[in-house]
Amino acid sequence: QCVRIVSSCGSFRGYAAAAQARSVLENELAAIRAAGTWKGERVIKSKQGAHIHVDGSRGDILNFCANNYLGLSSHPEVVQAGVDALKMYGAGLSSVRFICGTQDIHKDLEQKLAKFHEREDCILYASCFDANAGLFEVLLGPDDAVLSDELNHASIIDGIRLCRAKRFRYKHMDLNDLEDKLKEAESSRLRLVVTDGVFSMDGDIAPLQGICDLAEKYGAMVFIDECHATGFLGARGRGTDELLGVMDRVQIVNSTLGKALGGAAGGYTVGPKPLIELLRQRSRPYLFSNSLPPPVVGSATRAVELLLASNEIAQSMAAKTMRFRNAMTQAGFTISGAAHPICPVMLGDAQLASLMADDMLNFGVYVIGFSYPVVPKGKARIRVQISAAHTDQDIDHCVDAFIQTGRKHGVIS
Ligand code: PLP
Repeated sequence: QCVRIVSSCGSFRGYAAAAQARSVLENELAAIRAAGTWKGERVIKSKQGAHIHVDGSRGDILNFCANNYLGLSSHPEVVQAGVDALKMYGAGLSSVRFICGTQDIHKDLEQKLAKFHEREDCILYASCFDANAGLFEVLLGPDDAVLSDELNHASIIDGIRLCRAKRFRYKHMDLNDLEDKLKEAESSRLRLVVTDGVFSMDGDIAPLQGICDLAEKYGAMVFIDECHATGFLGARGRGTDELLGVMDRVQIVNSTLGKALGGAAGGYTVGPKPLIELLRQRSRPYLFSNSLPPPVVGSATRAVELLLASNEIAQSMAAKTMRFRNAMTQAGFTISGAAHPICPVMLGDAQLASLMADDMLNFGVYVIGFSYPVVPKGKARIRVQISAAHTDQDIDHCVDAFIQTGRKHGVIS
C-alpha cells in the first residue's frame, strides 16, 4: 500500500513537471508568433531546382531561396552518381569512420576536395556545422587565442564556445578592430583569425587580403568558412580565397557539400596534414557520429568532378546574379552585398518581410523573409539567391513580382 502511494505521488509530480514545461514552451511559442517572427515551413513536393512544386500552390513555382547556386542538386549526372553509389555501396555504414565506416569512396572524395582547394589534406564530416563544431577545440587550447568576426555563422560561434582558447570578437569586417585584438592577443601561443568567406545573411565578402596582411604581421593563422563560396567564387570556383588571391595565405578552410556541391549533406575541413590527422584522432563530431552515406558521397564526388573539369556553370550563375542585382537596384530596391548570388532585398520590418514573401508566392515566386534572431532586429529582409539553373526569363519574372509587391506595400513608388 505504502509503495503504491509513494509511486502515485511520484507520477503526480512527473505530470505536474511536464504540464509546467508545456506551459513555459507554449508561452515562448506565443511570444514568437506575437513578434511576427514565426518561421513557417512550406512543403515542397518535387526535386530541388529552379522550378518546384509547393504544397498548396498550383503549378510551377520559381524557387529563389535555395543554396543551390550551381543547380547541381538535381543535375542528372549528380543524381545518377548517387544512385550508382547507393547500389554499389549500400544505404549507409552503420558505423563511425574509425570503426568500420571508411569506404574507398570516402577517401577518394577527401582527396578530390583537397585537390580542389589546393590544400594538403581533407576530412569529411556529416555537415559543415559539425566541421565547425569539431575544429577549434582540437586546434586551440587555453594558451591560444581565437579572433572571430562578430557576424560569423552560428556554427562557428558554437564551435568556438567549445574550445578553451581566449576569445576576441572583432567588429564585422573591421580591420582596425581586428588589429587591436591581435595586439591584445600577442602573448598567446597560437592565434587564429576566424571569418566567414561570405556572410550568408548579407552576401558581403570578407576582406581577406587585409586579414591575411594583419595575420602575417602578428603571426596568426587564418580560417575561413566557405559554405557560400565553394564552387562558384573565383575564376575556377575555388572560393573567396581564390577570388581575392590569397589561396596560399589562408591555412584552414571549412565548407559544405550541402549547397553548391550537389546540395545533399556533408561538410569538411581542408588544411595542413598534421591538423587533419589530429582531427581524425580527436574531433568529437567526427569520432562520435556516423560516416557520410554512400549516395551522398557519390553525388558530391560527381559535383566536384564537374567543377574540376570546367567553370562554365559558375560563370553563367555570375552573369545571372548581375542581371538581378542591376534590375532590382534600378527599380528602387536596396540590395545588400556585392556581386554575390546572395541578394538580400532589405526591408527593415519583420512583418513586412514576411507579408511580402507570402505575396510573392501569389506571383509564383518562392522567397523567404528573414528576421530576428536570424538577422539583427530592424534589419529584416527577403534573401533572394540566384542559381545557374535560373533562366534570364526566370530572373525577369522574379524582378517583376518584386516590383508589383513592393509597390503594394509602399516599399518602392
Ligand atoms: N557555415 C555557414 C556559413 C552556413 O551558411 C551553413 C549553413 O547554413 C553552415 C556553416 C552549416 O552547413 P551544413 O548545412 O553543412 O551543416
